[in-house]
Amino acid sequence: MFGLIGHLTSLDHAQLVARDLGYPEYADQGLDFWCSAPPQIVDTIKVTSATGQQIEGRYVESCFLPEMLAAKRIKAATRKIINAMAHAQKHGIDITALGGFSSIIFENFNLNQIQQVRNVTLEFERFTTGNTHTAYIICQQVVAAAEKLGINLSDATVAVCGATGDIGSAVCRWLIARTDIKELLLIARNQERIQQLQEELGCGVAMDLDTALPKADIVVWVASMAKGVEVDPNSLKRPCLMIDGGYPKNLDQHFNFDGVHVLKGGIVEHSLDIDWRIMQIVNMDVPGRQLFACFAEAMLLEFEKWYTNFSWGRNQITLEKMDMIGQASRRHGFRPLLDLNTALLVT
Ligand code: NDP
Repeated sequence: MFGLIGHLTSLDHAQLVARDLGYPEYADQGLDFWCSAPPQIVDTIKVTSATGQQIEGRYVESCFLPEMLAAKRIKAATRKIINAMAHAQKHGIDITALGGFSSIIFENFNLNQIQQVRNVTLEFERFTTGNTHTAYIICQQVVAAAEKLGINLSDATVAVCGATGDIGSAVCRWLIARTDIKELLLIARNQERIQQLQEELGCGVAMDLDTALPKADIVVWVASMAKGVEVDPNSLKRPCLMIDGGYPKNLDQHFNFDGVHVLKGGIVEHSLDIDWRIMQIVNMDVPGRQLFACFAEAMLLEFEKWYTNFSWGRNQITLEKMDMIGQASRRHGFRPLLDLNTALLVT
């Protein structure tokens, strides 16, 4: 059985959906209440592969909210993730994806040092960040969406916002090795990590966001921001392709400008309907078929019976593993979301 540990994008969002999920007592509560709320299994999932194989999974709501980081409620945030992992393990789930901020909190606060959660000894090999599949899907989106828009990669400047992160560094590695992009711009705050990445890649220009945006034909957004940024559309090239892989979204606005194309990044579409409720709640356009690539990674590991923490740690995603998960992704009927028309509006 596979599991997905997820969270909602904000307190407002959480209050809005609590009632839908059957928890009316959560709907009027503030951040304090969510800080003390325990994890819950709120959905049972059945997925059928394109091969005909069927698997079953559980969605675990961790009750983490990005506001906990903004309000410096770090202990609450870390407890949410570790408790959700213990909850998944206690329910016999073999492989669970740590969605959205879950894996970021796990890494940033060294939660691998907390292995004992009450009577549960966490077995970390039962968990995956899902970042290898997410990075693979974003790379496929760059190539296919650029082609659709007539952006020639060999003439293109690609900016990666969050370049030194787990997903960002894998995307950079892949773009350099597998495409002939003209220039790669690296955006992140910590300059030491940027320098390390440049040394590893043997290329890439460090740049702040405001300087990079007017130069970029393609922007990949994979920064771990609790709240999205606003971008002046007049500063962007036309055409400009922006692939927003953040959760919550890195772009905090609706775009409706000629030549500016926004694609939801790191999202896959399955070839068959999935029996679940949870994607309706996170506002997927086609909730029966569309999902986060990190969640799909847990499904792929279950389909393949690869019971291992396939994606783990930071900045260790290799091209070989991206190829391997990519093959499994195609085999079981997932494809990168490429619907630029419906994706013109960021939600
Ligand atoms: P990491 O924590 O590994 O990396 C985050 C990156 O963002 C770092 O390079 C960091 O560098 C940079 N960053 C953070 N804040 C800013 C800022 N204000 N301006 C510029 N750069 C910034 O995160 P992941 O790679 O694991 O995840 C990245 C994003 O992808 C997150 O939003 C996450 O929720 C989302 N995600 C989406 C998935 C999907 O299935 N679609 C799956 C998993 C994650 P620095 O701190 O030096 O600025």
